[in-house]
Amino acid sequence: TGTDRASEVLVVGGGIGGLAAALAMKRNGADVTLVEHAPEFGEVGAGLQMAPNATRVLRDWGLLDAVLEVGVQPKHIVFRDATTGAELLRQNVRDEFAKRYDAPYVVVHRTDLHRIILDAAAEAGVTLLNDVEVTGTETAGSRATATARDGRTFEADVVVAADGLHSKLRAQIADDKPIPSGYVAYRGALPVSEVTYQSDMEDVVVWLGPQCHLVQYPLRKGEMFNTVAVFQSPAFLRGEEIWGSEDELEEAYRDCVPEVKAALANLWRVRSWPMFDRAPIPTWVDGRTALLGDSAHPMLQYLAQGACQALEDARVLERITADSVFAGDTADNAAWDGALARYNAVRAPRTARVQRTARVWGESWHVSRPVEKLLRDMLFAGAGADVYRFTDWAYSVEATDALDPAAGPSEAIERIAAVGDDNRPG
Ligand code: FAD
Repeated sequence: TGTDRASEVLVVGGGIGGLAAALAMKRNGADVTLVEHAPEFGEVGAGLQMAPNATRVLRDWGLLDAVLEVGVQPKHIVFRDATTGAELLRQNVRDEFAKRYDAPYVVVHRTDLHRIILDAAAEAGVTLLNDVEVTGTETAGSRATATARDGRTFEADVVVAADGLHSKLRAQIADDKPIPSGYVAYRGALPVSEVTYQSDMEDVVVWLGPQCHLVQYPLRKGEMFNTVAVFQSPAFLRGEEIWGSEDELEEAYRDCVPEVKAALANLWRVRSWPMFDRAPIPTWVDGRTALLGDSAHPMLQYLAQGACQALEDARVLERITADSVFAGDTADNAAWDGALARYNAVRAPRTARVQRTARVWGESWHVSRPVEKLLRDMLFAGAGADVYRFTDWAYSVEATDALDPAAGPSEAIERIAAVGDDNRPG
């Protein structure tokens, strides 16, 4: 049954996921407020890879052209052995790839992507509030109330909890904590003139070393260069509380080729990002509160899919509610419960697969024993022969358009994902 008033949606968290959700709900005609804890909206000034499953969402929202204007479309993703320099795999991500997945692979400055979605949300009429730290939500009947630390309350038909890896609102649903992987990331995005060593400016290059890897790619039409170094911390393995120091960074790459060692000078040293994920959870909904983005499915970044999956979440919620809550002339707020259940049923299995596969993918990169490297090289050679066997499940139109929770990928991917259940990168 339709109601006379609009549907009210409160989004908690103004990262890429929260902004995408706010824009998506506004596009359907909801009255949307987004609250963010930080005094200003923003993102880390480093790079972000966007695969076609995410760039299709941006295109659906009319934002892809703006992203392409400031981003780079790499020619290849290249994997190299960091200790020998040998090329393991060169995957063309233009041409046939872009045709197959009906969208480009793009690398973009995080600040740029965040600003493009923020501007679109503001322009669409989303109310954006800073300095609001939500401490909890409660559902009474068919309304949700979010309470902020300063005592303010916000009432809505639905709360979308996009409050990230350390989500407070997830704690109302799941009794779990972020799991440290023992790996830490250092990042740096510098003007290209200041860069000490750069690999091919047209490619994303991933160097794989023992318990470490390094990623390089251009940003902002090649004016900037992005470097990410990820390695296992010996201090973490020793059980120490503080881990991932700069000394450990230098030591982790000691056996690597000179190009990789030189690239370490392109990293910021003031900050590092210890890497965490969580195990998949089947339930994302608590009354009228639903998780989205990292709060629902934080993952290790080896598949470069965290933000991509958050965009998929928002787009699926938009499509499901367009057919239910927003199908009539007036909003049917009673339809939210069914819509959230369907969103949960569609998204949880897919993102669980990405979380699990990311763990295994990362572990296959960081091997050091000769037999492991042999198997890794054979895996990459096999992938090179038929790369789509490994990417269709993640990037294809069929994979993201299905609003059928039963739709699954190939047996090979299911086997890989299953290993990620109990196998930590190490
Ligand atoms: P966040 O960005 O964490 O946003 C959460 C927001 O909520 C924050 O603004 C926070 O201040 C706010 N907040 C938190 N608690 C509260 C509260 N109680 N009340 C109000 N506000 C609150 N993904 C990709 O797709 N491609 C990549 O190439 C890629 N590379 C990565 C590389 C690294 C090294 C890392 C660490 C991650 C990478 N990711 C990548 C993952 C991606 O960054 C994340 O998945 C994505 O940014 C998550 O967005 P989010 O909006 O869900 O969460």
